[in-house]
Amino acid sequence: MNEKMRTVLCPNCGKSVVWSTANTYRPFCSQRCKMIDLGAWASEDYNLPAKEDQPLSAEMNSIQHQSVG
Ligand SMILES: [Zn+2]
Repeated sequence: MNEKMRTVLCPNCGKSVVWSTANTYRPFCSQRCKMIDLGAWASEDYNLPAKEDQPLSAEMNSIQHQSVG
């Protein structure tokens, strides 16, 4: 009864997928499902404002200041 083949459900379409190293797209059933899922949260990323640049450069300045001073 010990089957080494494990199956998972594709997070995108719910299809059962064999979990193996041969399956590049695991846990997805196909490249298409993988791209759709990645695209879903990648597009959320684009909605974030680019405010993070300012505190980061301010931090860099203080670090430079310390090393100089
Ligand atoms: Zn799928």
